[in-house]
Amino acid sequence: MTTDLAFDRDHLWHPYTSTSKPLPTFAVASAKGVRLTLEDGRELVDGMSSWWAAVHGYNHPVLNQAAKDQIDRMAHVMFGGLTHEPAVELGKKLVALTPDPLEKVFLADSGSVSVEVAIKMALQYWLSQGHTGKDKLLALRNGYHGDTFGAMAACDPVNGMHSLFSGVLAKHYFAEAPQCPYDSDFDTEDLNSIQQMLADHHQEIAAVILEPVVQGAGGMRMYHPTYLKAVRALCDQYGVLLIFDEIATGFGRTGKLFALEHANVCPDILCLGKAITGGYMTLAATLCTGQVAAGICDGEAGVLMHGPTFMGNPLACAVANASIQLLLDSGWQEKVAAIEAQLKTELLPLKDLSPVADARVLGAIGVMEMKEPVAMEQVQAHFVEQGVWIRPFGKLVYIMPPFVIEPEDLSKLTGAMRDLAEGS
Ligand SMILES: *Cc1c(COP(=O)(O)O)cnc(C)c1O
Repeated sequence: MTTDLAFDRDHLWHPYTSTSKPLPTFAVASAKGVRLTLEDGRELVDGMSSWWAAVHGYNHPVLNQAAKDQIDRMAHVMFGGLTHEPAVELGKKLVALTPDPLEKVFLADSGSVSVEVAIKMALQYWLSQGHTGKDKLLALRNGYHGDTFGAMAACDPVNGMHSLFSGVLAKHYFAEAPQCPYDSDFDTEDLNSIQQMLADHHQEIAAVILEPVVQGAGGMRMYHPTYLKAVRALCDQYGVLLIFDEIATGFGRTGKLFALEHANVCPDILCLGKAITGGYMTLAATLCTGQVAAGICDGEAGVLMHGPTFMGNPLACAVANASIQLLLDSGWQEKVAAIEAQLKTELLPLKDLSPVADARVLGAIGVMEMKEPVAMEQVQAHFVEQGVWIRPFGKLVYIMPPFVIEPEDLSKLTGAMRDLAEGS
């Protein structure tokens, strides 16, 4: 079978693409472990985990079996008035693995939807308490929370393309992103902006929303966990809820099961997604505290006003359960620590190369930030020639490989990054 690339080019949208000037796409025939096999027979070592998701690699026998077993029982049933074992099991796992106060689980169908639900929870919570003016969010610059309108309104107002939709997007407040790197000393100056925003506007702010420790698509920035502790205290002081978006950072990626563990801080609302099914299916979850849930449900509406058609999809839940169990049983912490050590050895020295502005590593995330934006099309093709799948964007060339990657394959990824930096 050969994919009709001409049809793909002429008719299919890909993420953030133009149909008038389509970029080349590479047809994948199959994938196994950390390797993508293209239809022309070339094999690529995967550096992206299909955007943070495929933490166990591709085509994993345990996850395949979980999907097959569940599909023979039922692929889907509606979640209104019905329930099933895969959803209950997933709820138990998520409640057990996250901090104790997080005890209510909403199963959403994508990361962006889980953010929409988190925002709705926060707004409904304050409405239920009779606070009609608390309808804004306070988000961070360089943040990314998804592509739907509610989530997009909380993304960085400059690189999140707000201006294009400024007429229809909700207007929120934005604090400066924290600057102190993860492993430096914390400087309380990092708090000035958010402190000032909360002092000035807390009566209008329903919640602070942020990605703990690692800001993903908005810049691949890693910051000091003490910031989170201080923001938690500020939220309590000013009567504002705290939402952590761990859609990218969750399930081991930063070296902790959840990035909130770097600071031992519990948010009021937590969004999970991406790696939750090990990259098999779209699924996400929004957890909240008993207090938030009770606050919402004791109000005038009496219910949380959300319920997608495919909520709690049994197939996705069954694979999520298998993936989470596999993660817990796999010695993920040692694997991520080994990846982190190797990334530090192989990527941090690239800082000294003249086209490189910065190199940084946390957990199984390695970032090379260039001084100038890279020419995506050429660089992408060049990486494929070298047998690696790394998808840069803007000035960022970064990898977050599956946790099962072997040292030689990881060196292939970092080697291709070094070659790019040395050649440009
Ligand atoms: C990817 C991502 C989202 C959006 O998730 P989708 O599944 O793409 O809708 C939201 N927040 C963060 C931090 C993400 O990395």
